[in-house]
Amino acid sequence: MSVHEQFAEDLALYALGSLDGAERQTLETHLAGCASCRRELELLCGDLSLLSLTTAGPKPPARARQRLMSAIANEPRLPVAVPASERRQRSWWPALGWVAVTSLALVCVGLLRQNSTLQQDVASLRRQFTDQGSKLEQANEVVATMLDPEAQKIELVAAGNKPQPRGKAIYQRRNRNLIFFASNLPPLPAEKIYELWLFPANGGAPIAAGLFKPDARGSATVVNPPLPEGVAAKNFVVTVEPESGSHESPRGTAVIVGLGE
Ligand SMILES: [Zn+2]
Repeated sequence: MSVHEQFAEDLALYALGSLDGAERQTLETHLAGCASCRRELELLCGDLSLLSLTTAGPKPPARARQRLMSAIANEPRLPVAVPASERRQRSWWPALGWVAVTSLALVCVGLLRQNSTLQQDVASLRRQFTDQGSKLEQANEVVATMLDPEAQKIELVAAGNKPQPRGKAIYQRRNRNLIFFASNLPPLPAEKIYELWLFPANGGAPIAAGLFKPDARGSATVVNPPLPEGVAAKNFVVTVEPESGSHESPRGTAVIVGLGE
């Protein structure tokens, strides 16, 4: 063995920065004059940093670990320069302490890595959150513009034609979302109201889908009226109804009618 065996444990402790007092001085004095122990110390320091670097890795550095463990396991030999009275009783306890210190150091390195990974995760989530926030903001602005009564809504028709009453229903059956736009509706007679109806695809009775009065230009919007779940639509129709609306079925005349599906 190239290393002076009696220094094996001290070298390991020294590499960890855990050797103090007279023992440290003794070892340093010895290191100054012993190339083979200096070499062993270099190897141990290399092993320690290797162990630290690979705590999160897939392959534990078996050789480094083994060398460290055998360094710990080396039974203490008789002291060379330190009087027996100054030298603490060698036993497994210091070695166990050393193991604890190493374990703690490795755990700390592991936690630091975990922490940095978590910080990266947080940063990535924050970016996603910001992205989604700005997308939501854009969507809200689009909806707000569409629904703003102050916004100008100008219908373009074939040149030379008079704009006709028309409507567009955008219906999402799976979550019962319905947006309905109407334009160029004729002014309502007194005590009347427009009512939107959903005609189910299964041929069931028409479902009331909102009452509305258009603005001065004949424009109106209905957003998400209460609707039963999962109804596929065959068509949408707008009728003129008494001001309180009709509930069971349309009573008035149809003003605009969808083309159906
Ligand atoms: Zn030596």
